Amino acid sequence: MTLPKPYQQKNISTKLYFQSSINNLNELVDINNAIIITDENVFEKHSPKFKSLNTIVINAGEEFKVQETVNSIIEQLVNANANRKTFLIGIGGGVVTDITGYVASVFMRGISFGFIPTTILGLVDASIGGKNGVNVGLFKNIIGTINQPKFILHDISFLKTLPVQEWSNGFAEIIKHAAIGNKKMFAELQNNSIKIYQKDIKLLGNLLEQNAKQKLKVVAKDVYEKGDRKHLNFGHTLGHAVENTYQISHGQAISIGMHFACKLSEEVLNFSQTKEVNELLVQYSLPTHINFKPKKVFDVLVMDKKREQGFVHFILLEKIGKAVIKKVSLKELKSFLISFSKDEI
Ligand code: NAD
Ligand code: ZN
Repeated sequence: MTLPKPYQQKNISTKLYFQSSINNLNELVDINNAIIITDENVFEKHSPKFKSLNTIVINAGEEFKVQETVNSIIEQLVNANANRKTFLIGIGGGVVTDITGYVASVFMRGISFGFIPTTILGLVDASIGGKNGVNVGLFKNIIGTINQPKFILHDISFLKTLPVQEWSNGFAEIIKHAAIGNKKMFAELQNNSIKIYQKDIKLLGNLLEQNAKQKLKVVAKDVYEKGDRKHLNFGHTLGHAVENTYQISHGQAISIGMHFACKLSEEVLNFSQTKEVNELLVQYSLPTHINFKPKKVFDVLVMDKKREQGFVHFILLEKIGKAVIKKVSLKELKSFLISFSKDEI
């Protein structure tokens, strides 16, 4: 099997190879001068795939998306005699691809890199768009670069070992994509389930392809996040606040955030499809509510960088498939948050 013809979006140099295989990597890069970065889970569960590839293995988990890991990778690159022509390939979830893109952007002032994402979230979100970075203390992605990978290759055989909670996590972003810009995809999701996608590789491959293309399209129009790319933050304003305050995953947090944004959309835009969105989230094993302290969450929320003189820019829905950005006053937001926190627990 050889690689399929790549998909490319105007304005973005990245080539996307859908429904492909890691076995075709040698068609894309000189394997002798390529170094793989992966994490311990992916490496252990898929060790035969890494045979004969130069590989650096990092610890798994968000807590390792930090400068210390960057330094350790750079030391290993130097020890391996990496040079300006060395090609880095991140094979893993968003932690691995974020860190790989960042290391590649700063090592010797920048070398080429590509990704093979191995989580649903990585396939539909983290690998796409060129944002690469690491966390410092509690500040997530506070340092980083915007630099596009040369390629993104989908090899969904990696997903066989992905824990089920990571499927839900990734589907939160898929539901987000559908809600903000693709009502046909929303209907497809309503007719299926994680179990069905796990069994039907073709259906899954198509869904992942559609999602990657949708994100890439939004990014291509707005690489530096001045306008439409902000729609991708649907569910993320409250989502980030509850994620940082309570120990829940990103997917769970944005699921709660999407429910909240729907309720706010009812108020501000007469949105009438909250029930459909909620039912879909539940269908994909995502929570729509958490018992939270509104004041605590509000304080974290207003520290968010998107705040602007007494207002926040909130991504709301006009209808399923159509997102808009609206300025919401902090006062209104606070009272809304209080009523939401008491709502239907
Ligand atoms: P992750 O990379 O931590 O992966 C989740 C878990 O799954 C980890 O334990 C990992 O070891 C494991 N894993 C990965 N692939 C596996 C496989 N095939 N089989 C078994 N286990 C596997 O997390 P994630 O959810 O993929 O990504 C989250 C990260 O992505 C966050 O750091 C977030 O900031 C970042 N992100 C970046 C962007 C961006 O635009 N750059 C967008 C969204 C998210
Ligand atoms: Zn997200």
